[in-house]
Amino acid sequence: MSTAAAFAPARRTGLPEMRLLSVRQPWAWQILHEHKDVENRIIPTSGYRGWVAIHAARTPDEEALGLLPAVPPQWVDADRQFEYEAVIGVVRLVDVHDASWCGEDQYGRPLEMCSPWALRSFLHLVLTDPHPLPQPIPRIGRLGLGLARPDRHLVEKVCEQLPFL
Ligand SMILES: [Zn+2]
Repeated sequence: MSTAAAFAPARRTGLPEMRLLSVRQPWAWQILHEHKDVENRIIPTSGYRGWVAIHAARTPDEEALGLLPAVPPQWVDADRQFEYEAVIGVVRLVDVHDASWCGEDQYGRPLEMCSPWALRSFLHLVLTDPHPLPQPIPRIGRLGLGLARPDRHLVEKVCEQLPFL
């Protein structure tokens, strides 16, 4: 038996659970820097709750880009620098509910949404605790509309930059 193996320093076993969500710009950036705390989707997600890596998709939402105010809100702490085809940060998914849950009372009368970012007739993925990656990780390829499972290598690279995960 090799002594080196027996006394090897404790390596990090078990990486954190993580999923990957592809979001078009500017929304991806806004999740991480502008308190965008709801992502609106139309397809059901799994019951997963926990860390989600935000992947900035290859193509932007041109309409949303065009509607961005020339000057970001004063409290935004980062320059608008939109990466594409890269994992740009992580956020915690804490709830998923239908818009009718937060947007209507029991008689179907409209109420306030759970967030200014929430849209009617969508599923609301409620996000909190955003952590931008100091160095975005290139990740090319289509991911689909739901939560994807990242490969181990990607999770390791995320954790190198965010070791508290
Ligand atoms: Zn909601």
